Amino acid sequence: MKDNMNVKNLIEGEWGDSPEEACGVFGVYAPGEDVGRVTYFGLYALQHRGQESAGIAVTSGDGILVIKDMGLVSQVFDESSFVTLQGDCALGHVRYSTTGSTYWENAQPVYESTPRGPLAVAHNGNLVNTNALREQLVREGATFTSTTDTEVMASLLSHSDAPTTADAIAETFPRMVGAYSVVILTEEGLFGVRDPYGLRPLCIGVKDNGWFLASETAALDVVGAKFVREVEPGELVHIGPGGLEARRFVEDPDPSLCIFEFIYFARPDSVLYDRVLYDARKEMGMHLAEEAPVEADIVIPVPDSGVPSAIGFAEKSGIPFGEGLIKNRYIGRTFIQPTQSIRQLGVRLKLNPLTRVISGKRLVVVDDSIVRGTTSRKIVEMLKEAGAAEVHMRVSSPPISCPCFYGIDTAVKSELIASRLSVAEIRDFLGADSLHYLGMDNLVKSCRSPKDRFCTACFDGKYPIYVPEEMHMSKFRLEGLNASC
Ligand code: AMP
Ligand code: SF4
Repeated sequence: MKDNMNVKNLIEGEWGDSPEEACGVFGVYAPGEDVGRVTYFGLYALQHRGQESAGIAVTSGDGILVIKDMGLVSQVFDESSFVTLQGDCALGHVRYSTTGSTYWENAQPVYESTPRGPLAVAHNGNLVNTNALREQLVREGATFTSTTDTEVMASLLSHSDAPTTADAIAETFPRMVGAYSVVILTEEGLFGVRDPYGLRPLCIGVKDNGWFLASETAALDVVGAKFVREVEPGELVHIGPGGLEARRFVEDPDPSLCIFEFIYFARPDSVLYDRVLYDARKEMGMHLAEEAPVEADIVIPVPDSGVPSAIGFAEKSGIPFGEGLIKNRYIGRTFIQPTQSIRQLGVRLKLNPLTRVISGKRLVVVDDSIVRGTTSRKIVEMLKEAGAAEVHMRVSSPPISCPCFYGIDTAVKSELIASRLSVAEIRDFLGADSLHYLGMDNLVKSCRSPKDRFCTACFDGKYPIYVPEEMHMSKFRLEGLNASC
């Protein structure tokens, strides 16, 4: 948390209810290729990062065209879109759904005119000083159509009179505080920018004469591109006719990649910090088996995110792995539904117990995380109804006791079950016979990078970037709760 005082100075305004962005971004510079369609495939591979809206922007060097709408990638675009989305360079965005922010205006990419020509911005992350920046911009005459921090970003760039886009980014981005992995499209090409903490991932790929930027390496695999490297925290890359140019726009980056990307958010076939996430998750399961062994007949995952850890648990413990919960493949992540009652129904719609496998058996049930407890409670109930003799919950992350302010929707403090209850109380609430969460040391060990290279704030309250008090208050709604995590 090294720059807190400097950062504090940048946060002068009131913090309000701005939506959070936990999203996926993709960009391609490949003259002569069908860049609109390639971006579509890239976004398809990143659909798990956001299901609320999708958008693509393209340019051939003379203006920028944007198509975006609410819905999944497959719903927003069809063949006719690709007739229109012609160019040399494109970017795309999928946006996550959070309560109160489901508006077309918040869909991305955001288009903006600047003194250097038009630009489109796609952002993954969440700024913590959006309102302060917005207030300053409004005083300077800016108007806004959405509530997103991305529009503030675009507006800051348009208000800069730096001669080039790269200079404008280097000038304005140090004023932004929070998490941002951003792709920007201009008539000069593609730009990728990552905040000095590198909270959200952003990687570079190459294929023939084409360059790519993507939230996750899995999106590069899908379009046949080779992973080159991650965009470094505090780095700005420009991809254009001259190839790739990189420069730093901050002096002292402090890498703090979100450890939740390793646990849940990113795809298991993606690579972060040189570690395949499938392998990291499998190792988390192995550590769970060492930390909390139990006599049982079968290890079952909560699909899909619990699968690699359940395999690891089974391998380490010698207890057979099996499928005891069948997932409806056409239903997305439980959090898509923003209200608690719909979320509860969502569990039933999503998972069905396989009675023949579980009846009369002692089960180890492995999931990646418990946030509100809704999913696990429902799962334990369903498994017991289906005849399970015992249900032992094993969770491949520590208890989530603090909210995220950097773009992952882990709920307000009062809704986080581990902020209110002890592990034993959570076990009782879930109705499980035993419950164990993975220890922080083994979580970090599984990721194979030192702990100080991660943000782990939702587990230990150590926020790498200063979070303004107002923002804390809005996420600590329950009366009587201590606002300092
Ligand atoms: P809950 O019912 O609130 O305890 O949610 C726990 C389930 O949601 C787990 O099965 C996780 O796989 C999943 N999950 C955890 N974090 C997130 C997130 N930020 N967005 C969507 N789903 C999540
Ligand atoms: Fe990730 Fe948690 Fe940090 Fe948010 S608080 S960036 S979810 S580790």
